[in-house]
Amino acid sequence: MGMRRISQTLAFIQECLFPGGCALCGQTLLDGEEAWYGLCRRCQALFPVDREPRCSSCGRPLISEQGLCLPCREREPFHFDGGFVLYPYTGKYRELLKAYKFGNFRTLGNFFARRMGEILSRFPPEEASSFQWVPVPPRPGKIRKTGWDQADYLAKRLEPQYTRTPARSPQRVSPVSTPCLPVCRCLKRLSSKTQKALNREDRKRNMKGRIICVKAVPRRALLFDDVITTGSTLDACAEALREGGAEKVYAVSLFYD
Ligand SMILES: [Zn+2]
Ligand SMILES: [Zn+2]
Repeated sequence: MGMRRISQTLAFIQECLFPGGCALCGQTLLDGEEAWYGLCRRCQALFPVDREPRCSSCGRPLISEQGLCLPCREREPFHFDGGFVLYPYTGKYRELLKAYKFGNFRTLGNFFARRMGEILSRFPPEEASSFQWVPVPPRPGKIRKTGWDQADYLAKRLEPQYTRTPARSPQRVSPVSTPCLPVCRCLKRLSSKTQKALNREDRKRNMKGRIICVKAVPRRALLFDDVITTGSTLDACAEALREGGAEKVYAVSLFYD
């Protein structure tokens, strides 16, 4: 048994034995499945992945538009072929992300990973299984500041070896079967200013050339990040993947701003 497998097993046992209560409502978690996701079933049901009409470029829900949302009509096309977003960054959705990032409810990573996996059902099965996940790399120094890399934690939960181990596998816990795809950590972010205070144009300029490929990129990539705002970080990553030889790149974000 490798060290990694041991630490995954320990983490799983800990999650089952010492659940901290539901991340959203605080109710005691009743079984392995609830503990695995960090959410009671009632709260899990509050976060479905809906199938409303979506913008074909950024993935945000369309209101009265067709095909492309208004912001996407007004800017240059992204370097990715299409975007998927799960939840708005407001209300209960935002609470969920805050609980994950700052509230010590790291098991929510299992829930997010499962919902992200459900995106794959939008592709024909043979196409879905040809993708690899590519995490958006964190800003240098960010991990030191926050103490942990949420994106990489999520990436680990998407990896096949994680979903196959430990013995009480999440396949038993989660009956929805989505293909488990390899995770390719092929991108690196060079230092740049934090994007928060910048507008769309400045964000784009700030990211220019700041993402590099550090190893071979997958031919078909599902780039993922926690939040999409203007899309300039995902766009810079997609551009780097294309330059590295990727043929298809889709961008998946948990939340949209
Ligand atoms: Zn709950
Ligand atoms: Zn759009």
